[in-house]
Amino acid sequence: MPVRKMAICYSCGRRVAYTPCYEREALPEDARCNVLAGWLTVTRWKGKGSVDQYDFCSFGCLQKWVEAQIPKIPETFLDAFQGN
Ligand SMILES: [Zn+2]
Repeated sequence: MPVRKMAICYSCGRRVAYTPCYEREALPEDARCNVLAGWLTVTRWKGKGSVDQYDFCSFGCLQKWVEAQIPKIPETFLDAFQGN
């Protein structure tokens, strides 16, 4: 029996199980490409031989994650421009 794997949305934690289909002639019903239809996978290149992959179940979850990666401009900094 093939071992099922789990994909986890990096943002909301939603989980789906799939069967890896490499080295198999017929696609299993729960092949990764079937189960993860509509999901987004981001590959982050970190350097030589080193990548991170993140799965997201929707654009909304991807957006939340992306926004969390962008350094925020502190509110107090923006306030300094008020009233000029
Ligand atoms: Zn999600």
